[in-house]
Amino acid sequence: MALAKEEARVVIWNPAAECMPLEEKRMLQLRRLQRIVEYVYHRVPFYRKAFDEHKVKPEDIRTLDDIRRLPFTKKTDLVANYPFGMWAVPLEEIVRLQSTSGTTAKPIVMGYTRNDTEMWAEAMARTYQLCGVTADDVVQNAYGYALFTGGMGFHIGAEKIGATLIPAGPGMTQRQIMLMLDLGTTVLTCTPSYALTIADTLASMNIDRSKLKLRVGIFGAEPWTEEMRRTIEEGLGLEAYDIYGFTEMCGPGVACECLYHDGLHIQDDLFYPEVVDPDTEEPLPPGEKGDLVFTSLTREGVPLIRYRTKDITSLEYEPCRCGRTTPRFRKITGRIDDMLIIRGVNVFPSQIETVILQYRELAPQYQIIVDRVKNLDTLEVQVEATEEFWAQGEEARRNLAAQVQAKLTQAIIATADITILAPRTLPRIEAGKARRVVDKRRLG
Ligand code: ADP
Ligand code: ZN
Repeated sequence: MALAKEEARVVIWNPAAECMPLEEKRMLQLRRLQRIVEYVYHRVPFYRKAFDEHKVKPEDIRTLDDIRRLPFTKKTDLVANYPFGMWAVPLEEIVRLQSTSGTTAKPIVMGYTRNDTEMWAEAMARTYQLCGVTADDVVQNAYGYALFTGGMGFHIGAEKIGATLIPAGPGMTQRQIMLMLDLGTTVLTCTPSYALTIADTLASMNIDRSKLKLRVGIFGAEPWTEEMRRTIEEGLGLEAYDIYGFTEMCGPGVACECLYHDGLHIQDDLFYPEVVDPDTEEPLPPGEKGDLVFTSLTREGVPLIRYRTKDITSLEYEPCRCGRTTPRFRKITGRIDDMLIIRGVNVFPSQIETVILQYRELAPQYQIIVDRVKNLDTLEVQVEATEEFWAQGEEARRNLAAQVQAKLTQAIIATADITILAPRTLPRIEAGKARRVVDKRRLG
């Protein structure tokens, strides 16, 4: 019964692309790969030099597996060739520029030809329908606009499927809530950390959740855990979908969950995925975790070959229950750059989030502080108490801190100090991505 209901909700924007038989898909990918390799070899001096150094010519790409012969592209290559060095077309053919949010490096600037913006809108139209969004929906887009790709991607995709779009942008949270109430918003799009801020504000305004018509949330641009998903779903009364993308391919729209939430479907006729061992750079078989790598198969402005995202996940090729044949990857738990090394132990912020969000007494607002004292790394997790728990007093807090500390130490195999803070002491995210880690070892 439940399954029949799910099936009835499945809508597929482009079945020809998304449900293509695998053999046909591989032939299409090979043709596109051959064309793009030839294209960059003749248009981008960076690639001609890199291919020559690797002793590979465009005509050597005879099968899809020959992609392994091609060199990788790294973010540092884009930074070194800033702003236009990697571009394949002159500025006259570019209709728009976008830039990364600069989480880990100097921002890089990508140019889009008219075909590139159309390809991106297509990827985003497929994305909305992966989440069951149709022309009947009212989409409130609270991703950042301007140079950041989030706002623009969700904007052009919503227009393509014919939904009613509210280009709210991030921030002014009480106004966001007012818009939702007044305009009957059914779909919210923003970063998961901002969704949490909206949920938090909604609770503090004492507005009954049932007054909202929200049914779907499409959240991404940063790692977030299953525990965070549940917290947001409860707080806003919607079904939350994980979307993935990055500026170097187009922006959001590279991959997204479907109604079954069983991994993220990759638009692999546009973005060819691989997972490689971060150290040996050897491709890994399906199911094995490593560095996610993408080749843009149709991009004209700034096509990238074997781009190392440094996002960690694994690939799966079994067709999905939704009917799509596009491969999927598992929810991303972090990127290689996010990994903290605490006294030699590797710790991902998502592991910490998973533990602290299990406690009802704690609010889902936290900060991780790493320092070095007398040559030893220290790890402190500051987390807010809920109003009710704070009222129980200091002894209750001390006991809970000890419990959380034990659980965390077990989960991450490194000792962490827990500090329980009063409600509403940590800053809330009003726009963009959360910055939950303060690594004092890197300062000064
Ligand atoms: P920046 O590298 O400056 O943050 P982008 O704004 O293009 O540049 O962000 C892309 C990155 O954001 C991805 O490489 C990935 O690390 C992260 N990201 C995007 N979507 C997700 C997601 N759904 N889950 C985890 N991480 C994500
Ligand atoms: Zn599916």
